[in-house]
Amino acid sequence: MSEFTLVPAGPDTDRYAAAPGDATTRGWAIAATVTDPEVPVLTIADLGVLRKVEQHDGTFVVTITPTYSGCPAMEDIIARIVAAFDAAGLRAEVDTVFRPAWSTDWITPEGRAKLVAYGIAAPHPVTTAPAGDAGTLFVRPAVGCPRCASRQTTLVSEFGSTACKALYRCRRCDEPFDYFKEL
Ligand SMILES: [Zn+2]
Repeated sequence: MSEFTLVPAGPDTDRYAAAPGDATTRGWAIAATVTDPEVPVLTIADLGVLRKVEQHDGTFVVTITPTYSGCPAMEDIIARIVAAFDAAGLRAEVDTVFRPAWSTDWITPEGRAKLVAYGIAAPHPVTTAPAGDAGTLFVRPAVGCPRCASRQTTLVSEFGSTACKALYRCRRCDEPFDYFKEL
């Protein structure tokens, strides 16, 4: 048995250590094609949701960490992972681990670039938020418009197209856009 693990070490982590030709490398590559139903431009690897791929007795065991507990997309993501392996003639099971909790800081630099190209402002690093209990109000640093990069933006609603996004409007190009909230 062999395994490799993505260990998030902050926004600059975008590489995984894996032996070339290793079965788990193939498994990782297959799992990494699965996209998030709520943000179709991002794969679960881009999001940092994909944590580990192992192989036991011919079955791949894919470990994921949900973006937040109760995320309605998770059941869909699990089904997509199993289907992706099935399409390759392989068997997979999905393990869900909740600790450590997922953070938007786990989104890879490539994933953040894809978000902006898709018209969604990427989350600020969580470390910029003052310490406090969940739900503590704080002033979020200015969110840049993904279209024109202007920081002259206004929060329209804490909830955008999905609960994990807030709706902003750019005062320069007058376009509304989603901000992927830091978590
Ligand atoms: Zn703009």
